[in-house]
Amino acid sequence: MTNPPQATPNSPPGANEPPASSLELLYQIGQEVTADLDLRTLLHRVLFLSMKNVGAVSGSIIVLDENGQPGEEAFLMHGMAQSNTALQLRVTYESGMAGWVARHRQSVIVPDTSRDERWLRRPDDADDRTGAKSAVSVPVLAGERLVGVITLVHPTPYFFNESHCHLAEAIAEWAGIAILRAQLVDHLQTATQRYRQLFEDNIDPILVTDWQGSIQESNRQAQLMIGLSPQDLHSLKISALHTPDLEKLGPGYQNVCSSETQVYESTLNAYTGRSIPVQVHVRCIHYNNEYHLQWILHDITERKDLDRLREDLIAMVYHDLRSPLANIGSSLEMISALLEPEIDQNVQSLIQIAARSTERIQRLTESLLDLNRLEAGQLTGKRLPVNLCDLLEDAIQTVALMAREKKIGISLETPAQLLPVWVDPDMIRRVLINLIENGVKYSHPEGKIRIQVSEQEGMLLTSLLDDGPGIPAADQERIFEKFTRLRGKEGPRGLGLGLAFCRLAVTSHGGRIWVESAAGQGANFKFTLPLSPPVPGPDAH
Ligand code: ADP
Repeated sequence: MTNPPQATPNSPPGANEPPASSLELLYQIGQEVTADLDLRTLLHRVLFLSMKNVGAVSGSIIVLDENGQPGEEAFLMHGMAQSNTALQLRVTYESGMAGWVARHRQSVIVPDTSRDERWLRRPDDADDRTGAKSAVSVPVLAGERLVGVITLVHPTPYFFNESHCHLAEAIAEWAGIAILRAQLVDHLQTATQRYRQLFEDNIDPILVTDWQGSIQESNRQAQLMIGLSPQDLHSLKISALHTPDLEKLGPGYQNVCSSETQVYESTLNAYTGRSIPVQVHVRCIHYNNEYHLQWILHDITERKDLDRLREDLIAMVYHDLRSPLANIGSSLEMISALLEPEIDQNVQSLIQIAARSTERIQRLTESLLDLNRLEAGQLTGKRLPVNLCDLLEDAIQTVALMAREKKIGISLETPAQLLPVWVDPDMIRRVLINLIENGVKYSHPEGKIRIQVSEQEGMLLTSLLDDGPGIPAADQERIFEKFTRLRGKEGPRGLGLGLAFCRLAVTSHGGRIWVESAAGQGANFKFTLPLSPPVPGPDAH
């Protein structure tokens, strides 16, 4: 505790005697300030008790936030609550006595405020008004943390002495923890209120369930979209509204943890009779002292409609490209046949280039059409018993020129006797061309591609091994997804659709496709096809 240099050491006659700081008094104060109070009431109570017991006429308490900045305050004068603006509070704190006490964490007795530079003058401090006063200012601490500053004022100079100051310090000590606790409760209540508001006003339907999936809370948008009152909704299970994706969520929703949100698409079966496509976000939240599940059902109707429109449009374009492409192909064939055999070789090779390019565009459009069809769950075309060797030779022939340009050798090893596979030959031919073309595209010049065919448990296994850069283990699944390209713009050009088509085509035949690759040892694409005819079903061709 320090006294200002200009303070007169002796109290003038007439100053009040300090009140007895008995244990009983402190106990009583302790009881009062630790009761379950909100922050504002607590501050007024602390200030009132301090003023009453120290004999002050006015006083203030400034509370600091977690950044050490003045946040809340209480200000009493003659028992009446006064208020400061945020600016006044900041100025008082930054340039007044409270700031000094906070910065030095030291109590101060100011015998005469008119003679202490740290005392911030207010209009009522003017000589013709209340003039000189005395004050005591003490830090409020909760352990090591500075929680605020209490300043008590008496209109008579030299009113306060050390005993007053000790008593104020003792009250501040009790108050510190209580204020900190009230501040935390206040923050918690504000956060809860904010969550409640966000929850209620959210434009997405939000439901909160227990771990059995019973709905416990619902926001306005959920009630509106589902078409049920809160009471009716709260008697339902979440599974009555949509089918939860248990592969994602795990049995008993055990995969849902607070740090990660599980997302999947589903259909909300509203009680209005509508089926609404939704993207479901499931997260674990702590609410009402227990862990619950929060379900956000984001309406994706518009996106789905747009997707469908885009797909239909693309399918239409691919479809309409077919016949002009076929016309170009057959015209080129006719021109080539009509040309005199001794005609300029350059013209012949130009016609061949045009024919090959047309074939490539035809294959691409067919594959894109198939991709759409297969994704929509439609079956393959007519399945016939086919000799895979013939398809492989045909495919090798198709990419031969490209391979020759890069000086890549392609070898084919097949068993002498090969059983036929039951496939849509055009589709599987395109799968083979895709895989061999990739081998050529991604291999180094003068590399090798080795194709082997063998029988395995009723299936025909084809493996295409190249000696290119290979595919890292982490990408071996993802390359079969649409638009996945590993080397981006640096590598050879492509759309990232070839392998997606291959996977859909092979799996629609009841086979499997995958890649095996060790670092730097090339890629080994493998796929199986059934040797037995497909079981005729209602949709079989
Ligand atoms: P595209 O070749 O048009 O990019 P694909 O779906 O055929 O599309 O292939 C996807 C990606 O997989 C390619 O971009 C490439 O990064 C990688 N890939 C495919 N085949 C091979 C291969 N034989 N060797 C190395 N990487 C390959």
